[in-house]
Amino acid sequence: MADLCKSTPISLARPGPSLPRSIASDRAKRRRVECSHPVIHEGRCLLCERAVDDDHSLPFGFLRPSLRLSHEYADRMREASTGAALGFKKLHLILDLDHTLLHAVRLSDLTPEEEERLVAEAERKAEFGPEGRGDIFLDGSETGKGFVIKLRPFVREFLRKADELFVLTVYTMGGRAYSSRVTKLLDPDREYFGDRVITREDCTLRGRKSLDVVLAKETNVLILDDKKTVWPDHAENLIAIEPFYYFSQGTEKRGVQPGFVHDEDEHDSALATALRVLEGIHQRYFDPKLGLEGGDVRTMVRQMQSQVRGTPGDQSSS
Ligand SMILES: [Mg+2]
Ligand SMILES: [Zn+2]
Repeated sequence: MADLCKSTPISLARPGPSLPRSIASDRAKRRRVECSHPVIHEGRCLLCERAVDDDHSLPFGFLRPSLRLSHEYADRMREASTGAALGFKKLHLILDLDHTLLHAVRLSDLTPEEEERLVAEAERKAEFGPEGRGDIFLDGSETGKGFVIKLRPFVREFLRKADELFVLTVYTMGGRAYSSRVTKLLDPDREYFGDRVITREDCTLRGRKSLDVVLAKETNVLILDDKKTVWPDHAENLIAIEPFYYFSQGTEKRGVQPGFVHDEDEHDSALATALRVLEGIHQRYFDPKLGLEGGDVRTMVRQMQSQVRGTPGDQSSS
């Protein structure tokens, strides 16, 4: 079918204009076959205009709305982007947002005391704008359905340094709108993530994250996430980090005293620890004496996984 698709003139692949609508759509359904072309937009191959079944491609809507790429083409892109990163002595790093780089809660979930204190603090710091030194933000507060967002201590330094060693990608279970607003707080000048912000809408399996929608080879990808269970197929790429909780919302579930507000010390933050681990892996990978370049980071992660815990003080936050 793939060859037929390639050689069929586009005019024959389209339903005739005089066909009744229902017949035309039945035919369109029957034609949902594999074609050998790489790029699918809104369910149709960009080259031969055939309808292409989702089974034959992967969603890359974070790059362009409704974009899908064939498995083969995605693999070629993975090779290319991994090779390009290696040219800059970089590996790839996937970063979770919630509880890894920040803690966000709905304004309506704050206790009255927290609201009074935190909203005032956020408004005071907002004068500096997202580019400023602020670490607490109100998002959409004018609608009454907004969030208050606390960035994890050390996160700006973490991103600045990690960007020198890794191609950075955000991968979150948050929705696209929320994620793009939060990413703007972390990366106001789009220096770090570019288009690489993967959200819930891009996941191929409900409630799970997978490297299938990441354009980098699994051998060269590290993941930093507080939730191991969402990465069932990629545990060997994962560096688990203590979850960051700042607001008291949900404290009962976590067995923490209500009203407790946890912050980490800027330079003793779990992100500072994670950065040291990531730097260690990067350094070993590219150390010419060890000859690991071109190898598989998963072997190294397996050895180091047990070493990544937050500092003893962080245990209270988990
Ligand atoms: Mg998380
Ligand atoms: Zn095609």
